[in-house]
Amino acid sequence: MLIDGKVFIVTGGGSGLGAAVARQLHGEGARVVLADVNAAAGQQMAEELGGNALFQKTDVTSEADGAAAVAAALDRFGHLHGLVNCAGIAPGEKVLGRDGPHRLESFSRAVAINLIGTFNMLRLASEAIQREEPGEDGERGVIVNTASVAAFDGQIGQAAYAASKGGVVSMTLPIARELARHGIRVVAIAPGIFETPMMAGMPQEVQDSLGKSVPFPQRLGKPDEFAALVQHICENRMLNGEVIRLDGALRMGA
Ligand code: NAD
Repeated sequence: MLIDGKVFIVTGGGSGLGAAVARQLHGEGARVVLADVNAAAGQQMAEELGGNALFQKTDVTSEADGAAAVAAALDRFGHLHGLVNCAGIAPGEKVLGRDGPHRLESFSRAVAINLIGTFNMLRLASEAIQREEPGEDGERGVIVNTASVAAFDGQIGQAAYAASKGGVVSMTLPIARELARHGIRVVAIAPGIFETPMMAGMPQEVQDSLGKSVPFPQRLGKPDEFAALVQHICENRMLNGEVIRLDGALRMGA
């Protein structure tokens, strides 16, 4: 799908990977709805992009908010061709232990935002994308989900996060098969470790040592490298139902 002139919703577009994706797609001529729960960050990003970008405050776990984000795209730009699901949280805490109820809440929240939120947005956006006129090969649009290598290789403290991202991995192929007849492709990216505000809480020496453990290029990923892959997914019609690791061959082990 050519990106120029197309309309995308980018969830989590106010920060990190989502912000880089919004910049990249907008730079390629797309019209972009930034759907983020953080109004200050989302507004700032919309202002940075200028024309053909708008911010819609969206909690991805809410059906009403998701529907409002789709409506914002249709009202302002008249179309919807793509969704990039980047909204997410990484609770990063052990889920087993004495204070169980709190841990259950934390586990549920990760699943609610990372997995159910991704599905919620995907469901609502795909209904609108189905109404677009088909282009070459009958293509109407594309959806990109953000999983994580934690889905395959979760570390201590990542059980909730890993489970939520494992769900994103597992649903991508069946949903791609289901939406294929509507001309919508669905692809997931499983990033390794990227330099974003989500990682900023980590001490610098930990970030440096994690970077060194990446076989190549021995550093953390840059958000632009993630955004470049999103662009490639949008443009390559043969890519569908796949989960692509973008991790420099990082394998954490136990
Ligand atoms: P980030 O914290 O910089 O950005 C996440 C964005 O999601 C924020 O703007 C936040 O406001 C938004 N968000 C959180 N909860 C939301 C909700 N309920 N509704 C709408 N928006 C919400 O993080 P990032 O590193 O850019 O992460 C983006 C995605 O990539 C996440 O799904 C994350 O799990 C995934 N990921 C990141 C890395 C990494 O190393 N940074 C690695 C693997 C996967």
